Amino acid sequence: MKHHRLFWQIYPSYFLIIALVLIGLGWSFSISLRNFYYQQSSGDLKARAQLVALQLKEHIQLDDSEKLIDYIVRLGQQSETRITIIENDGEVLADSHQKISNMDNHRQRPEVVMAREQGEGVSVRYSNSVHQQQMYYAMLLQTKNSPVRTVRTAIPLSVIDRALSDIYRRLMMIGLVVAFAIIPVAWFLSRRISRPLELMTSAAQRFSQGDLATPLAEVGSVETSRLARALNTMADELSRMIRREVDQRAEIEAILGCMIEGIIAVDQDARVLRLNTAAIKMFGVKKFQSGRLIEEVIRHAELQQFIHKALRVQEPVESELVLLGLEKRYLHIQATPLTDSRKQRIGVVIVLHDLTRLRQLESVRRDFVANVSHELKTPITAIRGAVETLMDEAVLEGDNRRFLQIIFKQGERLNALIEDLLDLSRIEQGANQGGWVLESGLLLPVLEGARTACESLMNQHQVRVEVDCPEDLQAAIHPQLLEQAVINLLSNAIKYSEKNSFVRVTAREEMDWIDIRVEDFGCGIDEKHLARIFERFYRADPARSRRLGGTGLGLAIVKHVAYAHQGDVSVTSIPEKGSCFVIHLPRAMPDESTP
Ligand code: ADP
Repeated sequence: MKHHRLFWQIYPSYFLIIALVLIGLGWSFSISLRNFYYQQSSGDLKARAQLVALQLKEHIQLDDSEKLIDYIVRLGQQSETRITIIENDGEVLADSHQKISNMDNHRQRPEVVMAREQGEGVSVRYSNSVHQQQMYYAMLLQTKNSPVRTVRTAIPLSVIDRALSDIYRRLMMIGLVVAFAIIPVAWFLSRRISRPLELMTSAAQRFSQGDLATPLAEVGSVETSRLARALNTMADELSRMIRREVDQRAEIEAILGCMIEGIIAVDQDARVLRLNTAAIKMFGVKKFQSGRLIEEVIRHAELQQFIHKALRVQEPVESELVLLGLEKRYLHIQATPLTDSRKQRIGVVIVLHDLTRLRQLESVRRDFVANVSHELKTPITAIRGAVETLMDEAVLEGDNRRFLQIIFKQGERLNALIEDLLDLSRIEQGANQGGWVLESGLLLPVLEGARTACESLMNQHQVRVEVDCPEDLQAAIHPQLLEQAVINLLSNAIKYSEKNSFVRVTAREEMDWIDIRVEDFGCGIDEKHLARIFERFYRADPARSRRLGGTGLGLAIVKHVAYAHQGDVSVTSIPEKGSCFVIHLPRAMPDESTP
């Protein structure tokens, strides 16, 4: 629909209304004027006819035709009126403007008919005698001796029309002057209505373009000034809201900018919504534009896969990432769903935590532990050897033999501790330096091997071990490492079992996993310890552990072996009933390149 300016809608209407009123008024005025003139003229004609009748009655011998005509002609000339005297039968006796011989019978003339019937009559019509429009007045003339006649007076209408058209011309002139005067007046009035609205429209446009600072003048009628006030209030409110919004945005921007953690926010289509300075630095992003696909912004396949995975699942996910560059960087990445105010999911936020320094410290610690253990191993081996020789060869008596036995036992413990520490750092280092190479292998030989290794312990504690594993059950394994882990679990199970009880080792396929289960019916573990049992040197019952020659590192080794297999370890236990430790190995062949 085409929109016209309000002014051009009001102005012509104004003008038209006033012009129509003027035309209407002029028209009705001219009709009244014309009627008035006609009435006035007919009155005039009547007065003249009466005067003529009076004159005729008193002074003129009506029978003398010559005299009568002469008199009527003079009278007609003087009064500028056509005067006609008509006989009762319609014959014209005299006429001021025509020769009577040229005139026909006037009996049927409308004014004459009316005069005969009502005493007087008026008519306006075309005269055949003088060939023009005329107004006639006729009245009966009654004298004593002579028959009834009709006196008729007439004036040409052109006289009246001339007078009227004079007045019309003047009226027209006045009309035109008024019409010209209306043009600016109507313009002014229209402008008065449209101007405030135009001002408001342009102000609203200004507001929509963001200029909220210039308020609108509250002028014009009550309605327009109220509207202007409402617009100004709205602009104030808007600019306050925008300011608040901008401040909040700047705050968020500053917080995100100062964060050490990298932040990436993406929408459901994996388009980047936000990227803070730390994330830009981490991935060396050159130019960031909001709304671009993550693949276009950050060229890191693993991160892209992680983000797509996070978008697929509902719950938070986390992983670790290695950035190769001048300096290798380790990142811990965590993705949580991003929701809008209506709790609708609109994407994910990824928090990147730089673990490089932590990893370096861990590595220093690991190296230190490995070095210390290695350094300690030589003197301990020497001491053990010397003590053993002494015990074998020397004939010792009493306390000396007991002391030597204590030295030997503690030496054994130190040795076990160092062995475990070395194992642990070996497994960790292996995992860190590109990961352990896993190969598909049968599980039964591993479990049998572990049982054989624990044979003497079994005899010592008089505990049976049952191995239950399908012969053909295979998994991606590192046989030595896995055997070590099963030995650790098995020796714990034997150590913490009662005499004559038994331990069950089973391996089974469970959904996506292959579970190796080591189950005992011994003292069990209190629930409060279960969460920490796999930490280094954590012992549920320290005195008992030491008595049984435990190092507190056995389960930590099991955990690391499970991790090296990309699996996990779990425990369930009921005190006084027994414990069940499970190593979960992935069923599918894991990617060998990943640690
Ligand atoms: P330790 O060398 O002391 O056995 P581990 O790391 O192997 O160290 O075990 C940690 C602690 O877990 C042990 O000290 C013990 O208290 C508890 N534990 C481990 N296995 C069992 C089990 N089968 N039954 C009861 N307690 C156990």
